[in-house]
Amino acid sequence: PLTAGIVGLPNVGKSTLFNAITKSQVEAANYPFATIQPNVGVVEVPDHRIDRLVELFHPKKTIYTTFEFTDIAGLVKGASKGEGLGNQFLSNIRLTDAICHVVRCFDDPNITHVENTIDPVRDIEIINLELILADLQTVENRISKVERKSKSTADKEAKAEMALLSKLKPHLEAGEPARSLQLSEEEALLVKNYNLLSSKPVIYVANMDEEGVMDPESNPYYQKVTAFAAKDHSEVVALCAKMEEELSSLDAEEKAVFLEELGLPQSGLDRLIQKAYRVLGLCTFLTAGEDECRAWTFKAGMKAPDCAGVIHTDFKRGFIRAEVYAFEDMDALESEHAIKEAGKLRLEGKDYVVQDGDVMHFRFNV
Ligand code: GDP
Repeated sequence: PLTAGIVGLPNVGKSTLFNAITKSQVEAANYPFATIQPNVGVVEVPDHRIDRLVELFHPKKTIYTTFEFTDIAGLVKGASKGEGLGNQFLSNIRLTDAICHVVRCFDDPNITHVENTIDPVRDIEIINLELILADLQTVENRISKVERKSKSTADKEAKAEMALLSKLKPHLEAGEPARSLQLSEEEALLVKNYNLLSSKPVIYVANMDEEGVMDPESNPYYQKVTAFAAKDHSEVVALCAKMEEELSSLDAEEKAVFLEELGLPQSGLDRLIQKAYRVLGLCTFLTAGEDECRAWTFKAGMKAPDCAGVIHTDFKRGFIRAEVYAFEDMDALESEHAIKEAGKLRLEGKDYVVQDGDVMHFRFNV
């Protein structure tokens, strides 16, 4: 499964956020395949569509899809030079698909900041620089392998790669992350091979205090983070890690009451999960019936047989066709019978590109 790594300077609230995640962990009974390691938290992806299907189908079982966070503690200045456990941290980040970068946006004289003052953009730049420097090493190593080949022969591949590397190098040297470099489709494919740290999608988690999070827009720290993120091709989520930790120890009903009292439609963690899911290009299709209503994760662009394979490899191998309707039609018409009557049930074949929110029923040979 895809995973988002949680990084940040010391004392910004990473452990507090990660505690909130592990306390909200899914029930192992529903997810027998989730081998849960101590630094990994698997959470449900909140989905109002499932809630609505449950209202309509009254299933025996309800299963949300899940998303994984990995705690990557301790990245510090100098990591790219191997300082502290630097290289270890960088290689842990390399294994992630997206980065949740926690920054401190709260004042508290009792909690020291490693750089003494509160300045989230400076904090962001400290860590981003380590990632960029590590990438620069990767790029330079690659250049030393490819450069001669690209000059001495008619090797088209080497020439194309060298052209890309000579764009990447000055970009990184200027302190810019790889993700902000404009690339052609072919270049984007090539660059994937390097698994650059600064090409991973980033969500900045602006960690605020309880009061600040009620109105993040008026928090000057948050304003600076959003302005930075806009240039950086990144996303921002404002939350209060401490509050999330408290929320995560409540049951669903208590949590709903708590949020309602504060006038918040959703918890910060739920917003973070949904955003992380989206920046990774993940989508959800649904299966619905009296036995079970369930959400399944697929990658945008996947076709029907591959989505069938998400449920079971046999479904993919023996795929015949899929019966599909859009969640919105069920929401409006409220029964499969009404959907058929309205001509909204479609039969789709093996080339059908599944859409987010499709309710699928697969027909297959065993
Ligand atoms: P880490 O080093 O990044 O993992 O940071 P921790 O999660 O251990 O948090 C450092 C300190 O900041 C702890 O004492 C937390 O209780 C405190 N803290 C975390 N989030 C908040 C917050 O939103 N508001 C305030 N006032 N303190 C917080």
